[in-house]
Amino acid sequence: MKKEYQVVIIGAGPSGLSAALHLKKYGVKNILVIEKDIFPRYKCCAGYITTKTRKFYESLGLKLENCHYTLIKDFHIFYEYKKRQTIDNKFLYTNRKIDRVELDYEFYKLAREKNIEILEGIKIRSHNIEKSELYLSNSEIIAYQNLIFADGTLGYGSRYQKNKKRNIALQLTFPNDHLDEIQIHFGITRKGYGWVSSY
Ligand SMILES: Cc1cc2nc3c(=O)[nH]c(=O)nc-3n(C[C@H](O)[C@H](O)[C@H](O)COP(=O)(O)OP(=O)(O)OC[C@H]3O[C@@H](n4cnc5c(N)ncnc54)[C@H](O)[C@@H]3O)c2cc1C
Repeated sequence: MKKEYQVVIIGAGPSGLSAALHLKKYGVKNILVIEKDIFPRYKCCAGYITTKTRKFYESLGLKLENCHYTLIKDFHIFYEYKKRQTIDNKFLYTNRKIDRVELDYEFYKLAREKNIEILEGIKIRSHNIEKSELYLSNSEIIAYQNLIFADGTLGYGSRYQKNKKRNIALQLTFPNDHLDEIQIHFGITRKGYGWVSSY
């Protein structure tokens, strides 16, 4: 079976869904989002967002109170293990679990409310650029006029990237009794940085 869409977006993370919501706002009706996972889904991320991002998300209709987002009180900056600065945090928000699950799920629910079609649990098997067609894991064929890859740095779309730069990010969860604070550590690796945040 072959279906045709004006815009097909791969990936239902914040990039893919904000693209879909924007296009919908500007009158594009025939949009399909294809997502390999099923929501709510976990991803490696602390979920912090800045005031600027919060305002942008809210302009799309996202309700951050539904994801239990608040400011984290203290913000400490360390350099080579020595505390350098404490900032009264006025711009970084996250939820009580310090993860991205609730925020991305709210995005998903908002897109559903706005009648954006999302195919979940479906992967792309192959892609024919000349024919503008995608072949999906459920045997469907999707023809598109425009295609947006929003499937992350390691997604299907990454094969079309010319200059691949890969970084490493590690996330570790451990017991900690410092409540309600963020620590940013510079100088612990040659080019990277680290941070610690508490539940
Ligand atoms: C350890 C860590 C901590 C971070 N902390 C923060 C933070 O505090 N604040 C912040 O703003 N950012 C943080 N980030 C970065 C942030 O998570 C990402 O930049 C952002 O969420 C990416 O959103 P996205 O929509 O581009 O991609 P994603 O949210 O990754 O969405 C891509 C979607 O595409 C789907 N997908 C992938 N391949 C396919 C395929 N072949 N077919 C169909 N679907 C596919 C995936 O399942 C996924 O749902 C952190 C990242 C890491 C690794």
